[in-house]
Amino acid sequence: AKEEGKGKYIIFDPAFLQAFSERVNMEKYLRKALERNEFMVFYQPQIRLRNGCIYGFEALIRWNSPERGMVSPLSFIKIAEDSRLIVPIGEWVLAQSCMFAKRLQDEGYGDYKMAVNISVVQLLEDGFVDSVLRILEKSGLNPEQLELEITESMIMESFHLVISKLDLLKSKGIQIALDDFGTGYSSLGSLKNMPITTLKVDKSFIEHVPEQEDNRNLARTIVMIGRKLGMRVVAEGVETELQLQHVKRAKCDLVQGYLFSKPLPELEALELVRSGRKY
Ligand code: C2E
Ligand code: CA
Ligand code: CA
Ligand code: CA
Repeated sequence: AKEEGKGKYIIFDPAFLQAFSERVNMEKYLRKALERNEFMVFYQPQIRLRNGCIYGFEALIRWNSPERGMVSPLSFIKIAEDSRLIVPIGEWVLAQSCMFAKRLQDEGYGDYKMAVNISVVQLLEDGFVDSVLRILEKSGLNPEQLELEITESMIMESFHLVISKLDLLKSKGIQIALDDFGTGYSSLGSLKNMPITTLKVDKSFIEHVPEQEDNRNLARTIVMIGRKLGMRVVAEGVETELQLQHVKRAKCDLVQGYLFSKPLPELEALELVRSGRKY
């Protein structure tokens, strides 16, 4: 009987319980964070290589927690997805960033592109397309200025449903970027038929570009593919002058990375635009 009991109670492993309660707590805190308005959107400029001007921004969420300080999305997006909290959080990010781009436009600084990361949980949600269109309309931003960033793995998850939603959004003028490109498994053949307007070369390729010829060639090939397919190509994670030189030689359209700017809080992004800064 003793032996049997041992086997039965394995579920009360304290490590499991602790991990479980941390998750439940985290979920609770995320819900509170949303209510208490603790999330922030930071904006990282994307620079057009041809003229050194800021072409647009990528919106990146932060959690400014009174208890934990500034929390990276890497530590809460997954939990937000599993609990579906990513749906209201994602809508909030979308609304904030569309309003910010509209504000830049209204103040006469130009029509900046705003790129917003979308989770697969959001995309697969029934009302997703309507919710994007509603938020966009409410903000008054042109659909052409909004770019939704999705990843290859998302497309593979539910191919036809995802493609039909993206087709619809694209038909309204919204731009679609394939994020972290090169890290997934999408075939070149299917890429041609997908409603993608922009390719983002994953930063893992950029990182080792200077010292590794393989990566140099890979990065160049990815850029070439994008250009052949008529897409805009963005290099992300550009941190050094040397990386920039290679990315230029590969003929990328846009660059994004710490060499130019970190993601900035709204006020600093506004200041940057106001300054008319060129790179
Ligand atoms: P991502 O979409 O691949 O975003 C790029 C990440 O690289 C950002 O990290 C950015 O701050 C960072 N980065 C930018 N320039 C450089 C550089 O030169 N070097 C290096 N090493 N890193 C650079 P962040 O802001 O921590 O975001 C991490 C991930 O969290 C994002 O990766 C994205 O997958 C996710 N995420 C961020 N905001 C949102 C959001 O609003 N919704 C959803 N669903 N996911 C988001
Ligand atoms: Ca992204
Ligand atoms: Ca990325
Ligand atoms: Ca990523």
